Amino acid sequence: MALDLSRLRIDPRRLRNHFKALTRIGATPEGGVHRPALGDADIEGRKWLRDRIERSPLAYTDDTAGNQSAILHGRDGDSPHIMIGSHLDTVPGGGRFDGALGVLAALEVLLTLKDAGYSPPIGLEAINFTDEEGTHIGTLGSRAVTGRLTEGDLQHPFQGLPAFDSALARIGLSRKSLLQARRTADRIAGYLELHIEQGPILAEESFDIGIVTAIVGIGRLTLQFRGRADHAGTTPMALRHDAGRAAGVFVASAWDFLPENFPDCVINIGHLRFHPGTFNVVPHTVDLELEYRAPDARQLGDLQRGLIAMAKDVAHECRVAMEMGPAEISPAVSMDSRFQDQFACAANRLGLRHRRMPSGAGHDAQNFADLCPSGMIFIPSVDGRSHGPDEYSHWDDCVNGANLLLHSALEVVETYRHTRTK
Ligand SMILES: [Zn+2]
Repeated sequence: MALDLSRLRIDPRRLRNHFKALTRIGATPEGGVHRPALGDADIEGRKWLRDRIERSPLAYTDDTAGNQSAILHGRDGDSPHIMIGSHLDTVPGGGRFDGALGVLAALEVLLTLKDAGYSPPIGLEAINFTDEEGTHIGTLGSRAVTGRLTEGDLQHPFQGLPAFDSALARIGLSRKSLLQARRTADRIAGYLELHIEQGPILAEESFDIGIVTAIVGIGRLTLQFRGRADHAGTTPMALRHDAGRAAGVFVASAWDFLPENFPDCVINIGHLRFHPGTFNVVPHTVDLELEYRAPDARQLGDLQRGLIAMAKDVAHECRVAMEMGPAEISPAVSMDSRFQDQFACAANRLGLRHRRMPSGAGHDAQNFADLCPSGMIFIPSVDGRSHGPDEYSHWDDCVNGANLLLHSALEVVETYRHTRTK
């Protein structure tokens, strides 16, 4: 490199100004942000980003999935891009940092490199993905880019097709156009993402940075316990076939089962529906919605088998029947090991204390892992709070994360050239 870039740092004031301007869009009285994808505030946020990029020395572009990019062109004009991204949309009544910090840090990285007169060997692209949070379809934009979106996926948006179609039309898109945003593997050289941890580990253990090793696999199952309706006053306890009892025993047993057998996994029983659901009738049926997450495929499979066996045992013990629907599995995804090492080296050079950890939440980065090297870093979330107005990260941590993203991106573009010219 002709330029000495080792001392290069992002401009924290510019990053902060961008962050403040963006958090005003969709700001809630509680101090959070309400910017669900393709709603009024998200569209205003998208206009703000476009305007910001167009007034900068970077090039602006968007695709047919509504993903918005700033581009720092490579020395070889038609090169594939290293993409650095996240999302500006939020959950309803969400926080200021989730997604937005990653997009603004990516933009800041490109602006810093442009200001320094650096011209990368291949293109660098900062990208805002459409609807990561799943207002309509989760990680919609990154799935469209990576070809992980099918016509079938587009048939079941969370708010129904009419709402989805009219939301897309607001920014000139259609279900058909979403499918045209796919890029081939030879156009994407790698993917990097900065995100808040959304959990308490980094803050509790006083780390500056988390290097993500894998994004967890998620399984979802509906279970049904079926017993017999009986008079709630006259039927002796010992003679009941109470589906509610089975559900309760299952919830308690699953909680006891996990820490001992699957310390790296989590479960959530997010919904119980009792039938007929009234004071004076022993419930004949309970529907239960169970979600379980594990850092790799083996643990996800073992956990699922363990939970199903437990549900069967509980049903037997409570003298009810148990049935279940098909499991929906979103497999665990490993982050690129070379990127993990590059993050660690760059963090050491910047004097940042780091640890490796899996991500318990899904992110856009998972959609790239099959297509190109994909890597992710976390910064600490105070008290692990997220998806609400109390989501908070210290500003020093945001700046540290952006600087690590800068130096990791530099390392990645420079080594990409070296491996290509070998
Ligand atoms: Zn996010």
